[in-house]
Amino acid sequence: MAFPKMTDLELRGKTVVIREDLNVPIKDGKITNDKRIRAALPTIQYALDKGAGVIVLSHLGRPKEGEFTPETSLAPVAARLSECLGRRVLLSKDFEEARAVRPGGVVVFENVRCLKGEKANDPELAQKLAGLGDIYVMDAFATAHRAQASTEGAIRAAKEACAGLLLTAELEAFAKVLDNPQHPVVAVIGGSKVSTKLELLNNLLDKVDKLIVGGGISNTMIAARGFGVGTSLYEPDLVEASKGILAKAEALGKEIPQVIDVVVADALQEGAEATVCMADAVPADKMILDIGPKTRELYDRVLKEAKTIVWNGPVGVFEIKPFGEGTKAIAQSMADSDAFVVVGGGDSISAVEGYGLADKMDYISTGGGAFLELFEGKKLPAVAALEARCAN
Ligand code: ADP
Ligand code: MG
Repeated sequence: MAFPKMTDLELRGKTVVIREDLNVPIKDGKITNDKRIRAALPTIQYALDKGAGVIVLSHLGRPKEGEFTPETSLAPVAARLSECLGRRVLLSKDFEEARAVRPGGVVVFENVRCLKGEKANDPELAQKLAGLGDIYVMDAFATAHRAQASTEGAIRAAKEACAGLLLTAELEAFAKVLDNPQHPVVAVIGGSKVSTKLELLNNLLDKVDKLIVGGGISNTMIAARGFGVGTSLYEPDLVEASKGILAKAEALGKEIPQVIDVVVADALQEGAEATVCMADAVPADKMILDIGPKTRELYDRVLKEAKTIVWNGPVGVFEIKPFGEGTKAIAQSMADSDAFVVVGGGDSISAVEGYGLADKMDYISTGGGAFLELFEGKKLPAVAALEARCAN
């Protein structure tokens, strides 16, 4: 996986166009979480420090193409970026005005999804975006799985293109986990549905030494082993596919540590009474909502032996207190282990942050869909376009 990196290029006196993912949640004109802006800062700051003028591109929400409206404006993002950088930031939707940026200057170009042709990856728009500056920097990992004008077309159209610091860090973390990892490699895949993670499970099984499954996925696996799962969330349609995964693991000599005990309740609600039972003896009127203490111990041992860990998806309904012990325990085991740990997925990350353990992980991905596609073994269009530039 060779791609041009921003740190290898001469930026002084150049105009650098940086595609970020600054699609932050905004309520009543106020940003409620600026994580994505903070994740983009090192790349923008780096370009400024090296003496470049910077034009930042991003999308926001899902506006109608061809129309700029106040509701879909990046104005709050530009204001927040200005605060973070401690310098003036111009917001513009005019190509000429943006192109006039001077070294040390920052322009936020308006919501790229308001531009006609963005979604369809129109070559003309791609050319226009690339033509805003001398170097096109792709840094929007969370949007790297979409082949759109600002995420793929412009990389191909630009005179010079490269990956920014964030995209580079994401791809390097990924490579450290799956391309060239230290063994044993353990993946923990939880969450609600096998159907959304079937490709992920299949691809990871080829790469890892052990696969821990949790959450609703584990319920379907328990059913695939022939045990009852009571009223648990599970997918009857995916029992066969789950059997396929268990058989594949067996054939490859990969271990899927078996859930020993589980936490069950009558209903998925706050205040429901949580009890523990063995995974092969779930009462018909109960639902599985978390892993039990013996399973937590087993997983702790597996995780402490690992040298590399990738985690996506909570192993229980962590949002509701009595059912969050399992997810908290595995997060703690990862924090305590000396493995290289990568965490991805919105819910897993909010769990880790909620436990105050984010700093203890080696890498926390900023991509949801992009993270999944990367770990499913797919080539992200933006990354393919960058790699193609190295091949020439
Ligand atoms: P991520 O966002 O980290 O990729 P997912 O979105 O795939 O994770 O899954 C998270 C959801 O899975 C959470 O809302 C959690 O409550 C749910 N979940 C976990 N275990 C169970 C379970 N046993 N039964 C029902 N839902 C579960
Ligand atoms: Mg989620």
